[in-house]
Amino acid sequence: MQALPCQGCRGLCCGPVPITEKEYKKIQKKVKSMPQKIRDGLEKQPRLYGTCMFYDLDRDQCGIHDARPEVCRMFGFHKDMVCFRKPELATKEPVRLKETVIGHLSIDVTWKDV
Ligand code: SF4
Ligand code: SF4
Repeated sequence: MQALPCQGCRGLCCGPVPITEKEYKKIQKKVKSMPQKIRDGLEKQPRLYGTCMFYDLDRDQCGIHDARPEVCRMFGFHKDMVCFRKPELATKEPVRLKETVIGHLSIDVTWKDV
């Protein structure tokens, strides 16, 4: 599978994403396992309104990459999740999430919840 050219986007497509209960638990575990300094640094970054709470501006990448929600993994490769920089990769059928969404990161789940 061709990769997306995410370097340099600085979280362009990382807005509030839907998460399931299972994903929420995985994220909580990931955040709890972070060294306090890293967690605090990530929490305090001055993001634009709407940018995902876990987007790491300093490193220009997802701050919880191995625990990121399914939607983030699918982005760019489905017809209803087109990457602005590489639209030709969005060839898979529109997404149907199998599990129930419990809310959106940065809106329903914020730093006080992880
Ligand atoms: S998926 Fe596309 S828009 Fe999003 S960060 Fe990657 S290249 Fe940029
Ligand atoms: S969890 Fe990571 S990949 Fe998903 S929107 Fe937030 S920063 Fe982006």
